Amino acid sequence: MTTDRSQSNPHISVIIPAYNEAAAITSTVENIANQLATLSPHWDIVVIDDGSRDQTADIVRVLPAYLRTTLVRFSRNFGKEYAISAGLEYASGDIVICMDADGQHSSALINDMLDKWREGYDMVYAVRQDRKVESHFKLWGSRVFYGIMTLGERISIPRDAGDFRLMNRNVVDALRKLPERNRFMKGMYAWVGYKSIGIPYTPLPRSHGVSTFSRLKLMQLAWTGITSFSVIPLRLASAVGGLLALLAFVYGIWVILEKMFFHESIPGWPTVVASLMFFSGVQLLFIGILGEYIARIYDEVKGRPTYIVAEVAIPQPEEPSQA
Ligand code: UDP
Ligand code: MG
Repeated sequence: MTTDRSQSNPHISVIIPAYNEAAAITSTVENIANQLATLSPHWDIVVIDDGSRDQTADIVRVLPAYLRTTLVRFSRNFGKEYAISAGLEYASGDIVICMDADGQHSSALINDMLDKWREGYDMVYAVRQDRKVESHFKLWGSRVFYGIMTLGERISIPRDAGDFRLMNRNVVDALRKLPERNRFMKGMYAWVGYKSIGIPYTPLPRSHGVSTFSRLKLMQLAWTGITSFSVIPLRLASAVGGLLALLAFVYGIWVILEKMFFHESIPGWPTVVASLMFFSGVQLLFIGILGEYIARIYDEVKGRPTYIVAEVAIPQPEEPSQA
C-alpha cells in the first residue's frame, strides 16, 4: 500500500478466534465494534468459531447487523493457530487485527496500534507486561523455549508477544502465502519480516471460564514451534553424537595402553552395562527427534487442507423489530 497513511481511513478488519466462548463473545464483539466505530467508517469483524461445543456459533450467527460480524465456523476444533489462519483468509481489510474472544485484549489498544501504523509500521504487536504473576512453569518454559528458538536462527521472535497484533495488508498477504500445515503463528509472523514494533499491554482478566491452553497444549505448541522453525535439535544430535564418539575413542586408546603397559585385567560388567544403556538411550532420544521431523514432513506431504470451514454466515440484514 502506498497511500498516505496519516490521511487515509483504512478498512479495519478484526479477527477473533473463538472456542467455547458463548459467555463472552457478545460483549467482546460489542466492545470491539464500539471502538472501531470511533476510528474509521470502514470496519468489520470476523469471528472464527473453532468447533465450539457450546452456543458460540449460534450466538454469532444472529448478532445484529450494526456489529458487522461474519461467522466462519470450522467443522471441528482445529486449534487457535488454524482459526487465525482462516481469519487472515476471510478478512478483507487494509488492516487486520487479531484479538481473543475472552475479552483479555483491551480494545482501547487498537488506537495505539493504529497510531504506530500511521507512523509507517506494517506490524504492531502487543507485548505482555504481566509475566511476573504467571506460574514458574510458564515462566521457565517460555525462557527455555525462546532460548532454543533464537539460538543461531536468522529470525528473532519477539518475547512475550502473542497473537494480539495489527497487520497491514502486505503482511497478511505474505502470511497467506505460507502453505505449511504445522502452523506456528508466532514464528510465521517473524518469518515474513516487514517493519514491526511492539507496544506494551497488560492482559485483562478473562471475562468467563478458564484458559484452554493447558500445560500439555502449551508444550505441544512449543514443540511445533521448535520443530517447524528450528533445526537446533538436529544439530544437537550431531554435536552429542560427535562428542560421545570422541570420548569413546579416547577411552579405547586408554584401554589399549592400560593393557600394554600395566597388564590390567578388563574391568567388570557394571561399566559395560552402564555405558551400553547410556549410549542406547542417547540413540533412542535422537531417533525420536528425527521421527518428529519426519512426522512434520509426512503431514506436509499428505497435502490435506489446513482446516475445514463448515459454514460462513455474513451479517444479518437489519430487522426493524429489534430496538
Ligand atoms: N481458542 C481457539 N481454539 C482453541 C483454543 C482457544 O480458537 O482450540 C481461542 C479462544 O477462544 C481465545 C483465544 O484462542 O479467543 C485464546 O485462548 P485462551 O483464552 O484459552 O488462552 P490464553 O488467554 O491463555 O492465551
Ligand atoms: Mg485468554
